[in-house]
Amino acid sequence: MIPFTYFISDLHLSADRDDINQCLFLFLSEQAPQADALYVLGDLFEVWIGDDDQNSFTMSIAKAFNTLRQSGVPIYFIHGNRDFLIRQRFAKQAGITLLPEQVVIDLYGAPTLIMHGDELCIKDIDYQVFRKKARSWWWPKIMLSLPISTRRKLAQKGRATSKQKQSMLSDEIMDVTPQEVTNQMQKFAVKRLIHGHTHRPAIHELILNDQPAQRIVLGDWYEQGSILKVSEDSIDLTSINF
Ligand code: MN
Repeated sequence: MIPFTYFISDLHLSADRDDINQCLFLFLSEQAPQADALYVLGDLFEVWIGDDDQNSFTMSIAKAFNTLRQSGVPIYFIHGNRDFLIRQRFAKQAGITLLPEQVVIDLYGAPTLIMHGDELCIKDIDYQVFRKKARSWWWPKIMLSLPISTRRKLAQKGRATSKQKQSMLSDEIMDVTPQEVTNQMQKFAVKRLIHGHTHRPAIHELILNDQPAQRIVLGDWYEQGSILKVSEDSIDLTSINF
């Protein structure tokens, strides 16, 4: 078998979407064990209010990932805009390695920049202001010191506000800003970028510094499971049905 690596993102897991959870369990136990590695590029959870909010749902997810890890497949995680409060406690339980916001990995000889992708949507000014705060050292510290019940209420309120705002934003603002894609790819000197967040699965062929380049966008797991499989000479963006 040709060696390959899996990428998934934007699963938005929650206790009340068991169809998605079951699909993930099947993917982790049947398909993922054949991979060299699994990368989860953010928004694994619909909402994450802290590693101390332990329940049977979060533990079942942790266990499924950990079983894959124990079978010898390394699992890497980049935070999304929904689960940026995931810390070492959950990472250990799930057997996942937390990565920085942006990382260049060597994908069978091709330097590849990976990220969640929310940092590319720079036209959504309000969100970028929140993002900066959410990724600061002080804001998470304050948030995580609040009682779980308070955090849950705040998260619900935040979700409602953000949904309302999003419905008023144009498609252009919600998508990545092309110039920012170029900036990031040049900053990291790569010709390939993989990200999620926008829920617009596609393989975009670009020209960067007069050379061919690629931006691969993972899809979400609301209707079906979007999966990216990359080997040395193939890129396969598919989806599995729930
Ligand atoms: Mn996102």
